[in-house]
Amino acid sequence: MQLNHPANVAVIGTGYVGLGTAGLLAHIGHRVTGIDIDQNKIDMLLRGEVPIHEPGLDDLLSSQGDRLTWTTDYSAVRDADVIFICVGTPPGLDGTPDLQYVVSAAASIAEYLNGNAKVIVNKSTVPIGTGDYVQRLLEDHTRAFDPTRHFVVSNPEFLREGTALGDSLYPDRIVLGGQMEALEIMTQLYAPLIDQTFSPPKGAPRPEWFTRPAVIKTSLQSAEMIKYAANAFLALKISFANEISGLCERVGADIEEVAAGIGMDQRIGQRFLQAGLGWGGSCFGKDTQGLISAGREHQYEMPILQAAIDINYRQRRVIIDKLLRHLKTVKGKRVTVLGMAFKPNTDDLRDAPTHDLISQLNRLGASVTAHDPIAMKRAEREWTHLNYTPASSIQEAFERADAVILATEWDDYMTMDWNPLLATMRRPLVIDARNVIRSPINALVEQVGRDAPRGERR
Ligand code: NAD
Repeated sequence: MQLNHPANVAVIGTGYVGLGTAGLLAHIGHRVTGIDIDQNKIDMLLRGEVPIHEPGLDDLLSSQGDRLTWTTDYSAVRDADVIFICVGTPPGLDGTPDLQYVVSAAASIAEYLNGNAKVIVNKSTVPIGTGDYVQRLLEDHTRAFDPTRHFVVSNPEFLREGTALGDSLYPDRIVLGGQMEALEIMTQLYAPLIDQTFSPPKGAPRPEWFTRPAVIKTSLQSAEMIKYAANAFLALKISFANEISGLCERVGADIEEVAAGIGMDQRIGQRFLQAGLGWGGSCFGKDTQGLISAGREHQYEMPILQAAIDINYRQRRVIIDKLLRHLKTVKGKRVTVLGMAFKPNTDDLRDAPTHDLISQLNRLGASVTAHDPIAMKRAEREWTHLNYTPASSIQEAFERADAVILATEWDDYMTMDWNPLLATMRRPLVIDARNVIRSPINALVEQVGRDAPRGERR
């Protein structure tokens, strides 16, 4: 099948992945309709507002003109050559991914399938076998499904929140799983991305070192597994660094030196060896659990992944223990948490380590103040069950605090002048849960897995 260029594309789900996908596909020349069941989100998008915080996304979306439209009406699927499913797959109670949004998206797509050839692309992270399952759902929901003209493809997403634009425009690899004929259509769809023939958008210049992405064509199952295995491996690396960091503290070694030393080995690599509070966000926890539950379904244990999860959650307690070592008790003490989002440059609070920190501090009777440059409004809506006082400024966050925990390494915190702020605290105690404070400050600084370099502590 020869794909028209520009192609008509429907993107189902306008969250972190759907918005990035819609923006990218419009930017490389296609006509894109973003569809969501959340009327509020669509209304915002129609008004030119972006419902999430992602650097550069506003400009990318607003510069697409007629190529990009938004609706809650699934009938746009009728004219689409390619349909991307980008809905959420949150973990169920037992860690198994909840596929209800994928199922309902597939049912809604089925209503508008006709004789026209289409590729239905699953970009959501789903259990291995979901591609076949989606095909069966489509077959069950409509007689129009024709396996010689309708194809299901897996095209997992590897973007990171906070750097989503660069990750989507200049990816290491594009993974495509499914039947060869469908993968050929996907290759045509992505041709401007693969050949890098598009002009970089404002705010996302092409890195000098970047040439073109690798295109990896696999079976549906392998593509689905690649996504899970990639996230699980990255999570594992962080937990490994955290496990080693605990021993570093006990034997007088410094995890930063150790990580640099092992990371220089090209077989290991420098990245994702950062000790600290551990991973968070909507993907690592969910996907490691998802893989374990896939193993469970096949009576196959995955002890390495379970250990990675356990170590990750232990790290949150490690930070509280550091606090208690200095304060003895936090009951009635004012403890400030700097950073609420799970990482800088996003407003995403899903599985943010700060959530656990605040709830542990609540249990211990601390009086918690929290600050985040972007995610605070969202926290006010989503973290109503936690007890904390939102600080309206960094200054307010420091005033009269008995301790400050640096939980998210936002630029605002990395570039602020610490000493005048520390002077307003009751006692200058800083728990640097991300190991990012490099210069001496007038405080007792606790980091993870290391003795602070001489002269950095008072
Ligand atoms: P999200 O929760 O931000 O967005 C999902 C969107 O889908 C919401 O706007 C929701 O209203 C919409 N939706 C739900 N059901 C729908 C339906 N039937 N029809 C139309 N819209 C519907 O989720 P996200 O973070 O974008 O993640 C989407 C998928 O991508 C997940 O499987 C996730 O694991 C995966 N993923 C996420 C990231 C990330 O960094 N967020 C990275 C890679 C992969």
